[in-house]
Amino acid sequence: MSFSSDLKEELLHIMAENPCCLLAESYGLMLFGRGFSSRELSISTENEAVAKKYQYLAERLCLHAPQVQKATAKKYKVSVSDQSDRLRVLSAFGCDGTERVRRLNWANITEECCVGAFLRGAFLACGTINSPEKNYHLEFVVPHYNLCCDLKKFLENNDFSPKEVRRSGLYVLYFKKTEEIQNLLGIMGAAKFVMEFIDVIVYKDIRNNVNRRLNFENANLNKTVNAAMQQIEWIEKLQKSAAFRELPEEMQRIAHLRLENPDYSLQQIGDALIPPMSRSGVNHRLKKLCAIAQKQKGQ
Ligand SMILES: [Zn+2]
Repeated sequence: MSFSSDLKEELLHIMAENPCCLLAESYGLMLFGRGFSSRELSISTENEAVAKKYQYLAERLCLHAPQVQKATAKKYKVSVSDQSDRLRVLSAFGCDGTERVRRLNWANITEECCVGAFLRGAFLACGTINSPEKNYHLEFVVPHYNLCCDLKKFLENNDFSPKEVRRSGLYVLYFKKTEEIQNLLGIMGAAKFVMEFIDVIVYKDIRNNVNRRLNFENANLNKTVNAAMQQIEWIEKLQKSAAFRELPEEMQRIAHLRLENPDYSLQQIGDALIPPMSRSGVNHRLKKLCAIAQKQKGQ
């Protein structure tokens, strides 16, 4: 199950309480379906439950119950096959079938309570959402330019700011901001889903922070280990030369400590000395040891 179908499943279980909202939801689902005219009134969807919802809502406005058909291996289709039924449905939404362009009839969504119901219907017909695990993205894919402009205006009127893009001949309105996506989910009535969405975001945030810290610590650890390996290499070379025995005892002691304890930090080497030495004191002397070793090599 994709994140989209999970969301649709929750939306499908919401029952509009007011008759005005039920009509607005039907309008959203049917207007953004495949056909919305006197010649064709239908939806084509991969989601069987969405097809059944379409069937259920259309049936309330028709005399003959439309049927869900399996159009292809993946697609379900519902169409209102009776001409007079199609006109009946259209007239319920204030259309008479002579409209040449599919537009939004604002008169079907006049009440405040209907906004979410209409958007829920529209989302069921043409919406998708990505899992916030990947990226934040919710979109409506509209096949008609004018209708896309109308939906954009409708969303803007309700304080949303969708972005627009054209993709393979279709018009897409999308949202990337988490807050807007949450608000949209909320207005559509997907309360449970909002929580899930927030959970994933919070979890992702925590995980990113932890990963960032681990990467940082690993990088530092690698740096320390590499430096120690390099020091050991030089010190081993230096030990073989006479110059080593001429070094002050303290330097020899640091060299031994480094050889015997490759995993020691500078601080740990300093602490192991008698008397103890500061981290920078050890660092300074190790650098000096390496410099002497390099000079030896040159001779
Ligand atoms: Zn309403």
